Amino acid sequence: MEPAEERGMNRRAFIKAGVIGTATAMIAPPAFADTLQRMAVSDSSPFPEPVYRTLGRTGLKITTVSFGAMLTPEPEVIRVALEHGVNYIDTARKYMGGKNEEIVGKAVKGMRDKVYIASKTLPTSQSKADIIRDVETSLKTLGTDYIDVIQLHNLTDKERIFNAGTREALTQLKKQGKVRFCGVTTHKNEVEVLSALVDDPDKFFDTCLVKFNYKSDTSVSNAIDRAATAGIGIVAMKAMVGGYDVSGLGRITPFQAALKWVLQNPKVTTSIPGMKDMAQLRENIAVMGMPFSYADLRRLERYNEAIAPFYCAFCGKCEGGCSHGVEISTINRALMYAEGGYGDISLARATYAELPKQSTAVSCVDCGNCAARCVRGLDISAKMSHARTVLA
Ligand code: SF4
Ligand code: SF4
Repeated sequence: MEPAEERGMNRRAFIKAGVIGTATAMIAPPAFADTLQRMAVSDSSPFPEPVYRTLGRTGLKITTVSFGAMLTPEPEVIRVALEHGVNYIDTARKYMGGKNEEIVGKAVKGMRDKVYIASKTLPTSQSKADIIRDVETSLKTLGTDYIDVIQLHNLTDKERIFNAGTREALTQLKKQGKVRFCGVTTHKNEVEVLSALVDDPDKFFDTCLVKFNYKSDTSVSNAIDRAATAGIGIVAMKAMVGGYDVSGLGRITPFQAALKWVLQNPKVTTSIPGMKDMAQLRENIAVMGMPFSYADLRRLERYNEAIAPFYCAFCGKCEGGCSHGVEISTINRALMYAEGGYGDISLARATYAELPKQSTAVSCVDCGNCAARCVRGLDISAKMSHARTVLA
Protein backbone atom coordinates (compact mmCIF):
# COMPACT_ATOMS: atom_id res chain seq x y z
CA MET A 1 0.00 0.00 0.00
CA GLU A 2 1.24 3.44 -0.88
CA PRO A 3 2.35 5.36 2.21
CA ALA A 4 0.67 8.62 3.22
CA GLU A 5 3.62 10.78 2.41
CA GLU A 6 3.95 9.41 -1.08
CA ARG A 7 1.89 11.82 -3.12
CA GLY A 8 1.98 14.09 -6.08
CA MET A 9 4.61 13.33 -8.66
CA ASN A 10 4.69 9.61 -8.15
CA ARG A 11 0.95 9.32 -8.47
CA ARG A 12 0.81 11.64 -11.46
CA ALA A 13 3.66 9.79 -13.14
CA PHE A 14 1.82 6.54 -12.48
CA ILE A 15 -1.24 7.94 -14.24
CA LYS A 16 0.58 9.50 -17.19
CA ALA A 17 2.50 6.29 -17.78
CA GLY A 18 -0.75 5.00 -19.19
CA VAL A 19 -2.05 2.91 -16.35
CA ILE A 20 -5.49 4.41 -16.83
CA GLY A 21 -5.60 3.47 -20.45
CA THR A 22 -4.57 -0.11 -19.91
CA ALA A 23 -6.48 -0.76 -16.73
CA THR A 24 -9.77 0.70 -17.83
CA ALA A 25 -9.50 -1.05 -21.14
CA MET A 26 -10.11 -4.26 -19.20
CA ILE A 27 -13.47 -3.07 -18.02
CA ALA A 28 -14.57 -0.17 -20.19
CA PRO A 29 -15.74 0.13 -23.78
CA PRO A 30 -13.22 1.85 -26.10
CA ALA A 31 -15.02 5.21 -26.25
CA PHE A 32 -15.15 5.48 -22.50
CA ALA A 33 -11.50 4.45 -22.16
CA ASP A 34 -10.56 7.20 -24.68
CA THR A 35 -12.39 9.76 -22.61
CA LEU A 36 -10.58 8.66 -19.48
CA GLN A 37 -7.23 8.75 -21.24
CA ARG A 38 -7.85 12.35 -22.35
CA MET A 39 -8.78 13.26 -18.79
CA ALA A 40 -5.67 11.58 -17.43
CA VAL A 41 -3.20 13.49 -19.56
CA SER A 42 -4.94 16.85 -19.50
CA ASP A 43 -3.10 19.56 -17.57
CA SER A 44 -6.50 20.89 -16.54
CA SER A 45 -7.38 17.59 -14.91
CA PRO A 46 -9.91 18.22 -12.15
CA PHE A 47 -8.36 15.53 -9.97
CA PRO A 48 -6.24 16.87 -7.11
CA GLU A 49 -3.27 15.32 -5.41
CA PRO A 50 -4.55 12.80 -2.89
CA VAL A 51 -4.46 13.81 0.76
CA TYR A 52 -4.22 11.08 3.38
CA ARG A 53 -5.01 10.73 7.07
CA THR A 54 -4.58 7.78 9.43
CA LEU A 55 -7.64 5.70 10.31
CA GLY A 56 -7.17 5.59 14.07
CA ARG A 57 -5.39 2.62 15.57
CA THR A 58 -5.73 0.57 12.37
CA GLY A 59 -2.81 2.62 11.07
CA LEU A 60 -4.29 2.56 7.54
CA LYS A 61 -3.40 5.71 5.58
CA ILE A 62 -6.50 6.60 3.61
CA THR A 63 -7.63 9.45 1.42
CA THR A 64 -9.69 12.16 3.08
CA VAL A 65 -12.30 11.73 0.36
CA SER A 66 -13.04 8.05 -0.05
CA PHE A 67 -15.49 6.22 -2.24
CA GLY A 68 -18.99 5.52 -1.02
CA ALA A 69 -20.06 2.85 -3.50
CA MET A 70 -23.63 2.22 -2.37
CA LEU A 71 -25.17 3.99 -5.37
CA THR A 72 -22.52 3.33 -8.01
CA PRO A 73 -23.96 1.31 -10.86
CA GLU A 74 -20.75 0.79 -12.85
CA PRO A 75 -17.24 -0.27 -11.74
CA GLU A 76 -15.59 2.23 -14.11
CA VAL A 77 -16.40 5.21 -11.89
CA ILE A 78 -14.79 3.55 -8.89
CA ARG A 79 -11.85 2.52 -11.01
CA VAL A 80 -11.12 6.09 -12.11
CA ALA A 81 -11.18 7.22 -8.49
CA LEU A 82 -8.73 4.48 -7.51
CA GLU A 83 -6.42 5.36 -10.35
CA HIS A 84 -6.34 8.93 -9.07
CA GLY A 85 -5.28 7.91 -5.58
CA VAL A 86 -8.54 7.28 -3.72
CA ASN A 87 -7.73 4.15 -1.74
CA TYR A 88 -10.72 3.35 0.51
CA ILE A 89 -14.05 2.00 -0.74
CA ASP A 90 -17.11 1.54 1.40
CA THR A 91 -19.75 -1.00 0.39
CA ALA A 92 -22.13 -3.35 2.22
CA ARG A 93 -23.67 -6.81 1.91
CA LYS A 94 -27.05 -5.12 1.79
CA TYR A 95 -26.49 -2.59 -0.99
CA MET A 96 -28.21 -3.41 -4.27
CA GLY A 97 -29.13 -6.79 -2.79
CA GLY A 98 -25.45 -7.86 -2.87
CA LYS A 99 -24.73 -6.57 -6.38
CA ASN A 100 -22.83 -3.57 -5.06
CA GLU A 101 -20.05 -5.78 -3.70
CA GLU A 102 -19.85 -7.41 -7.11
CA ILE A 103 -19.34 -3.98 -8.72
CA VAL A 104 -16.63 -3.11 -6.18
CA GLY A 105 -14.96 -6.47 -6.85
CA LYS A 106 -14.76 -5.68 -10.57
CA ALA A 107 -13.41 -2.20 -9.87
CA VAL A 108 -10.50 -3.41 -7.72
CA LYS A 109 -9.50 -6.27 -9.99
CA GLY A 110 -5.74 -6.19 -10.55
CA MET A 111 -5.13 -3.52 -7.92
CA ARG A 112 -6.42 -5.13 -4.75
CA ASP A 113 -3.13 -4.50 -2.93
CA LYS A 114 -3.47 -0.72 -3.51
CA VAL A 115 -6.98 -0.43 -2.11
CA TYR A 116 -8.68 -0.86 1.24
CA ILE A 117 -12.17 -2.38 1.16
CA ALA A 118 -14.70 -1.76 3.90
CA SER A 119 -17.94 -3.76 3.85
CA LYS A 120 -20.75 -4.46 6.30
CA THR A 121 -22.60 -7.50 7.54
CA LEU A 122 -26.38 -7.45 7.17
CA PRO A 123 -28.15 -5.14 9.65
CA THR A 124 -30.09 -8.09 11.07
CA SER A 125 -27.09 -10.40 11.56
CA GLN A 126 -26.05 -11.01 15.15
CA SER A 127 -25.32 -14.69 15.73
CA LYS A 128 -21.93 -16.23 15.07
CA ALA A 129 -23.34 -18.19 12.14
CA ASP A 130 -24.98 -15.06 10.62
CA ILE A 131 -21.79 -13.03 10.76
CA ILE A 132 -19.61 -15.80 9.31
CA ARG A 133 -22.13 -16.42 6.54
CA ASP A 134 -22.23 -12.70 5.64
CA VAL A 135 -18.45 -12.32 5.54
CA GLU A 136 -17.91 -15.50 3.54
CA THR A 137 -20.53 -14.32 1.04
CA SER A 138 -18.92 -10.88 0.83
CA LEU A 139 -15.48 -12.39 0.21
CA LYS A 140 -16.85 -14.50 -2.60
CA THR A 141 -18.83 -11.63 -4.15
CA LEU A 142 -15.94 -9.17 -3.88
CA GLY A 143 -13.54 -11.75 -5.30
CA THR A 144 -11.00 -11.20 -2.55
CA ASP A 145 -9.34 -13.22 0.22
CA TYR A 146 -9.74 -10.56 2.87
CA ILE A 147 -11.78 -7.50 3.84
CA ASP A 148 -9.83 -4.66 5.41
CA VAL A 149 -12.63 -3.32 7.60
CA ILE A 150 -15.81 -5.29 8.30
CA GLN A 151 -18.53 -3.25 9.98
CA LEU A 152 -21.67 -4.11 11.90
CA HIS A 153 -24.36 -2.25 9.95
CA ASN A 154 -26.66 0.38 11.42
CA LEU A 155 -26.29 0.26 15.19
CA THR A 156 -28.85 2.36 17.02
CA ASP A 157 -27.56 1.63 20.52
CA LYS A 158 -24.63 -0.06 22.24
CA GLU A 159 -26.19 -3.51 22.58
CA ARG A 160 -24.74 -5.17 19.48
CA ILE A 161 -21.25 -3.90 20.30
CA PHE A 162 -21.13 -6.40 23.16
CA ASN A 163 -22.92 -9.33 21.46
CA ALA A 164 -20.90 -12.45 22.28
CA GLY A 165 -21.78 -14.37 19.11
CA THR A 166 -20.78 -11.45 16.91
CA ARG A 167 -17.44 -11.11 18.67
CA GLU A 168 -16.72 -14.84 18.46
CA ALA A 169 -17.36 -14.78 14.72
CA LEU A 170 -15.22 -11.71 14.09
CA THR A 171 -12.38 -13.08 16.22
CA GLN A 172 -12.43 -16.31 14.24
CA LEU A 173 -12.50 -14.46 10.91
CA LYS A 174 -9.56 -12.30 12.00
CA LYS A 175 -7.54 -15.36 13.01
CA GLN A 176 -8.24 -16.86 9.59
CA GLY A 177 -6.96 -13.69 7.91
CA LYS A 178 -10.33 -13.03 6.29
CA VAL A 179 -10.88 -9.77 8.14
CA ARG A 180 -8.22 -7.28 9.23
CA PHE A 181 -10.15 -4.75 11.33
CA CYS A 182 -13.66 -4.46 12.75
CA GLY A 183 -15.92 -1.43 12.97
CA VAL A 184 -19.53 -0.35 13.36
CA THR A 185 -21.85 2.08 11.58
CA THR A 186 -24.46 4.37 13.12
CA HIS A 187 -27.03 6.96 12.01
CA LYS A 188 -28.84 7.30 15.31
CA ASN A 189 -27.81 7.54 18.96
CA GLU A 190 -24.32 8.21 17.66
CA VAL A 191 -23.11 9.44 21.05
CA GLU A 192 -24.13 6.21 22.80
CA VAL A 193 -22.50 4.07 20.12
CA LEU A 194 -19.26 6.08 19.99
CA SER A 195 -19.01 6.18 23.77
CA ALA A 196 -19.48 2.41 24.02
CA LEU A 197 -16.63 1.84 21.57
CA VAL A 198 -14.35 3.99 23.71
CA ASP A 199 -15.46 2.51 27.04
CA ASP A 200 -15.27 -1.10 25.84
CA PRO A 201 -12.51 -2.62 28.01
CA ASP A 202 -11.60 -5.05 25.20
CA LYS A 203 -11.30 -2.25 22.61
CA PHE A 204 -12.77 -4.75 20.18
CA PHE A 205 -13.83 -2.36 17.42
CA ASP A 206 -11.36 -0.07 15.67
CA THR A 207 -13.55 2.18 13.49
CA CYS A 208 -16.88 3.95 13.41
CA LEU A 209 -18.71 5.04 10.28
CA VAL A 210 -20.89 7.77 11.71
CA LYS A 211 -23.44 10.22 10.39
CA PHE A 212 -21.74 13.59 10.74
CA ASN A 213 -22.49 16.85 8.99
CA TYR A 214 -22.85 20.57 9.61
CA LYS A 215 -26.26 19.97 11.20
CA SER A 216 -24.98 17.45 13.75
CA ASP A 217 -25.30 18.30 17.44
CA THR A 218 -22.24 19.44 19.35
CA SER A 219 -22.64 16.27 21.44
CA VAL A 220 -21.80 14.24 18.32
CA SER A 221 -18.70 16.37 17.58
CA ASN A 222 -17.60 15.89 21.17
CA ALA A 223 -18.16 12.12 21.02
CA ILE A 224 -16.18 11.96 17.76
CA ASP A 225 -13.39 13.93 19.37
CA ARG A 226 -13.26 11.58 22.33
CA ALA A 227 -13.42 8.46 20.16
CA ALA A 228 -10.71 9.64 17.78
CA THR A 229 -8.49 10.56 20.70
CA ALA A 230 -8.98 7.01 22.02
CA GLY A 231 -7.80 5.57 18.69
CA ILE A 232 -11.13 4.87 16.98
CA GLY A 233 -10.87 5.61 13.25
CA ILE A 234 -13.67 8.02 12.30
CA VAL A 235 -15.31 7.77 8.88
CA ALA A 236 -18.05 10.34 8.25
CA MET A 237 -21.19 9.64 6.24
CA LYS A 238 -24.28 11.65 5.30
CA ALA A 239 -21.95 14.65 5.01
CA MET A 240 -24.23 16.25 2.40
CA VAL A 241 -27.32 16.16 4.54
CA GLY A 242 -29.28 14.16 2.02
CA GLY A 243 -27.90 15.79 -1.12
CA TYR A 244 -31.31 17.25 -1.97
CA ASP A 245 -32.01 18.93 -5.30
CA VAL A 246 -30.89 22.53 -5.01
CA SER A 247 -31.61 23.71 -8.52
CA GLY A 248 -33.75 26.41 -6.92
CA LEU A 249 -30.58 27.93 -5.48
CA GLY A 250 -29.23 28.81 -8.91
CA ARG A 251 -25.52 28.25 -9.42
CA ILE A 252 -24.78 27.72 -5.78
CA THR A 253 -23.96 24.09 -5.05
CA PRO A 254 -23.51 23.37 -1.36
CA PHE A 255 -22.22 19.81 -1.57
CA GLN A 256 -18.53 20.58 -1.77
CA ALA A 257 -19.01 23.06 1.07
CA ALA A 258 -20.73 20.38 3.18
CA LEU A 259 -17.91 17.94 2.54
CA LYS A 260 -15.30 20.57 3.37
CA TRP A 261 -17.13 21.37 6.59
CA VAL A 262 -16.79 17.72 7.71
CA LEU A 263 -13.15 17.38 6.67
CA GLN A 264 -12.06 20.56 8.42
CA ASN A 265 -12.38 18.48 11.59
CA PRO A 266 -8.99 16.75 11.96
CA LYS A 267 -10.58 14.02 14.08
CA VAL A 268 -12.42 12.79 10.99
CA THR A 269 -10.15 10.58 8.90
CA THR A 270 -12.30 10.48 5.81
CA SER A 271 -15.78 10.85 4.36
CA ILE A 272 -17.44 8.47 1.93
CA PRO A 273 -19.77 10.49 -0.32
CA GLY A 274 -21.86 8.27 -2.54
CA MET A 275 -20.85 8.73 -6.17
CA LYS A 276 -22.96 7.55 -9.05
CA ASP A 277 -21.09 9.00 -11.99
CA MET A 278 -18.04 10.91 -13.18
CA ALA A 279 -19.59 14.32 -12.49
CA GLN A 280 -20.13 13.45 -8.84
CA LEU A 281 -16.68 11.92 -8.61
CA ARG A 282 -15.07 15.11 -9.94
CA GLU A 283 -17.13 17.30 -7.64
CA ASN A 284 -16.27 15.32 -4.51
CA ILE A 285 -12.67 14.40 -5.11
CA ALA A 286 -11.81 18.04 -5.86
CA VAL A 287 -12.43 18.85 -2.21
CA MET A 288 -9.30 17.04 -0.99
CA GLY A 289 -6.98 19.59 0.57
CA MET A 290 -9.40 22.53 0.16
CA PRO A 291 -10.04 24.75 3.20
CA PHE A 292 -13.55 25.60 4.39
CA SER A 293 -14.22 29.25 3.53
CA TYR A 294 -16.68 32.03 4.32
CA ALA A 295 -18.26 31.48 0.90
CA ASP A 296 -18.83 27.84 1.88
CA LEU A 297 -20.56 28.97 5.04
CA ARG A 298 -22.93 31.15 2.99
CA ARG A 299 -23.66 28.21 0.67
CA LEU A 300 -24.56 26.01 3.61
CA GLU A 301 -26.80 28.70 5.06
CA ARG A 302 -28.78 28.86 1.83
CA TYR A 303 -28.96 25.08 1.54
CA ASN A 304 -30.12 24.93 5.12
CA GLU A 305 -32.98 27.31 4.41
CA ALA A 306 -34.00 25.27 1.36
CA ILE A 307 -34.19 21.91 3.15
CA ALA A 308 -35.54 23.11 6.52
CA PRO A 309 -39.21 22.32 5.70
CA PHE A 310 -38.56 18.61 5.23
CA TYR A 311 -35.10 17.67 6.56
CA CYS A 312 -35.08 15.05 9.35
CA ALA A 313 -31.87 14.62 11.34
CA PHE A 314 -32.84 11.07 12.43
CA CYS A 315 -32.28 12.11 16.03
CA GLY A 316 -35.21 9.99 17.24
CA LYS A 317 -36.24 12.59 19.81
CA CYS A 318 -39.85 12.46 18.60
CA GLU A 319 -40.19 8.69 18.91
CA GLY A 320 -40.76 8.55 22.66
CA GLY A 321 -43.97 10.50 22.04
CA CYS A 322 -45.45 7.88 19.74
CA SER A 323 -47.54 5.37 21.66
CA HIS A 324 -47.82 3.29 18.47
CA GLY A 325 -44.08 2.60 18.25
CA VAL A 326 -43.58 4.10 14.81
CA GLU A 327 -39.86 4.27 13.96
CA ILE A 328 -40.11 7.77 12.57
CA SER A 329 -36.38 8.41 12.08
CA THR A 330 -35.78 5.24 10.06
CA ILE A 331 -38.86 5.89 7.93
CA ASN A 332 -37.62 9.42 7.25
CA ARG A 333 -34.18 8.04 6.36
CA ALA A 334 -35.82 5.68 3.88
CA LEU A 335 -37.72 8.65 2.40
CA MET A 336 -34.40 10.49 2.04
CA TYR A 337 -32.98 7.55 0.07
CA ALA A 338 -35.97 7.79 -2.26
CA GLU A 339 -36.17 11.56 -2.63
CA GLY A 340 -32.79 13.07 -1.72
CA GLY A 341 -29.71 12.98 -3.87
CA TYR A 342 -29.66 9.19 -3.52
CA GLY A 343 -32.70 8.80 -5.76
CA ASP A 344 -32.69 5.10 -4.95
CA ILE A 345 -36.16 3.71 -4.44
CA SER A 346 -34.83 0.13 -4.06
CA LEU A 347 -32.57 1.13 -1.17
CA ALA A 348 -35.43 3.15 0.31
CA ARG A 349 -37.82 0.22 0.20
CA ALA A 350 -35.17 -2.22 1.49
CA THR A 351 -34.48 0.05 4.46
CA TYR A 352 -38.20 0.40 5.16
CA ALA A 353 -38.67 -3.37 4.85
CA GLU A 354 -36.12 -3.97 7.64
CA LEU A 355 -38.56 -2.46 10.13
CA PRO A 356 -40.96 -4.75 11.99
CA LYS A 357 -44.43 -4.31 10.49
CA GLN A 358 -45.76 -2.72 13.69
CA SER A 359 -43.07 0.00 13.51
CA THR A 360 -43.76 1.10 9.94
CA ALA A 361 -45.78 4.11 8.83
CA VAL A 362 -48.82 1.83 8.59
CA SER A 363 -49.09 2.03 12.39
CA CYS A 364 -49.33 5.82 12.35
CA VAL A 365 -52.84 6.96 13.25
CA ASP A 366 -52.21 10.63 12.51
CA CYS A 367 -52.65 11.68 16.13
CA GLY A 368 -49.99 14.39 15.84
CA ASN A 369 -48.44 13.76 19.27
CA CYS A 370 -44.96 13.48 17.83
CA ALA A 371 -45.02 16.79 15.91
CA ALA A 372 -44.73 18.79 19.10
CA ARG A 373 -41.61 16.84 19.97
CA CYS A 374 -39.85 17.25 16.65
CA VAL A 375 -36.84 19.43 17.31
CA ARG A 376 -37.16 20.77 13.76
CA GLY A 377 -40.89 21.38 13.73
CA LEU A 378 -41.63 18.85 11.00
CA ASP A 379 -45.16 17.72 10.18
CA ILE A 380 -44.37 14.10 10.99
CA SER A 381 -47.80 12.62 10.40
CA ALA A 382 -47.76 14.11 6.89
CA LYS A 383 -44.38 12.48 6.31
CA MET A 384 -45.69 9.13 7.57
CA SER A 385 -48.66 9.41 5.23
CA HIS A 386 -46.27 10.19 2.38
CA ALA A 387 -44.11 7.21 3.37
CA ARG A 388 -47.09 4.88 3.13
CA THR A 389 -47.50 5.95 -0.48
CA VAL A 390 -43.85 5.98 -1.52
CA LEU A 391 -42.35 3.07 0.41
CA ALA A 392 -45.04 0.44 0.72
S1 SF4 B 1 -48.78 11.02 14.36
FE1 SF4 B 1 -48.22 8.87 13.91
S2 SF4 B 1 -46.03 8.77 14.28
FE2 SF4 B 1 -46.78 10.63 15.32
S3 SF4 B 1 -47.26 10.00 17.45
FE3 SF4 B 1 -49.14 9.81 16.25
S4 SF4 B 1 -49.14 7.64 15.56
FE4 SF4 B 1 -47.02 8.13 16.19
S1 SF4 C 1 -38.77 13.94 12.86
FE1 SF4 C 1 -37.75 15.57 14.06
S2 SF4 C 1 -37.45 14.78 16.16
FE2 SF4 C 1 -38.00 13.04 14.81
S3 SF4 C 1 -36.05 12.12 14.20
FE3 SF4 C 1 -36.58 13.64 12.63
S4 SF4 C 1 -35.64 15.59 13.26
FE4 SF4 C 1 -35.61 14.21 15.04
